[in-house]
Amino acid sequence: MDWVERVRTLRQWSGNGVRAPHKPLLMLYALGRFQQAPEQDLRYTEVERDLKDLLRDFGPPRTSSPSYPFHHLESDGVWEVRTDHGHGSPGSTVGVLRSSGARGQLAPELRSALATDPLLLGRLTQLLLDTHFPPSLHADIAAAVRLDLEDAEEARRVTVSVRDRRRAAELRREVLSAYAYRCAFCGFDGAIGRVPVGLEAAHVRWWAFRGANSLHNALCLCSLHHRLFDRGVLGLDPARRIRVSDRFTGRGRAARDQVLELAGRGAEEPRHGGEPIAPENIAWHSEQVFRGEARTAGPVATN
Ligand SMILES: [Zn+2]
Repeated sequence: MDWVERVRTLRQWSGNGVRAPHKPLLMLYALGRFQQAPEQDLRYTEVERDLKDLLRDFGPPRTSSPSYPFHHLESDGVWEVRTDHGHGSPGSTVGVLRSSGARGQLAPELRSALATDPLLLGRLTQLLLDTHFPPSLHADIAAAVRLDLEDAEEARRVTVSVRDRRRAAELRREVLSAYAYRCAFCGFDGAIGRVPVGLEAAHVRWWAFRGANSLHNALCLCSLHHRLFDRGVLGLDPARRIRVSDRFTGRGRAARDQVLELAGRGAEEPRHGGEPIAPENIAWHSEQVFRGEARTAGPVATN
């Protein structure tokens, strides 16, 4: 059985760039639990609580039920469900999963493959992260599901092609230079010697969702604003003004200066007539990543 291929092709409910990370998050959660207690099954009620948190923190802005992946992942052959009445999932309804005492677990063949191949867990983890999330979120997600990313990083060196790594380095050079080595949101332009520091190329439409490696889909952002942009705290409106989520909180002066006061400010454009971010990429980010509503610009009161 090629488990890597099976996990790569988990059946999704939606296409066209719509994020549906429910099954991948359940898989990552199950791998994390497997790493801690390989033979222990997971009660639906417990999974429901934890997966709800994961979907809220790392899923798309719309809400959805953890019962769907719990039931539907079984048809991908990587997960099995049992109830008090025997094998097989009783359905995707929350009530019936709770009342039947449903429990889930990685499929037995997958568990034995993980036990025999010490590299497999890292490969599957990295694959799930690469296929569904941008790199800036990988450490946070791994920590949330209690997976050790070191194994995954090792696997990544084996699976990410030299060509992809070169292309990522090229894009970074191209984007940083187009934006004159300044964050497009705050103007941060740190360097040590002649080398920029704390500046990154941020995809607007994620690479994992067929986002292009080009200027019309990438911004030069400082590390803080890159992270907040990928978590949906920051976004752009069609006129490329910065949006700040009304869900974001931060009481101190730094949160005010570095985040809240960006609301409504125009993002920097690339210099020398470089191609600015395309509207369709902004629209994807607004629908799939940005959380809640945009705050209105204006004076921000803090303690
Ligand atoms: Zn910045």
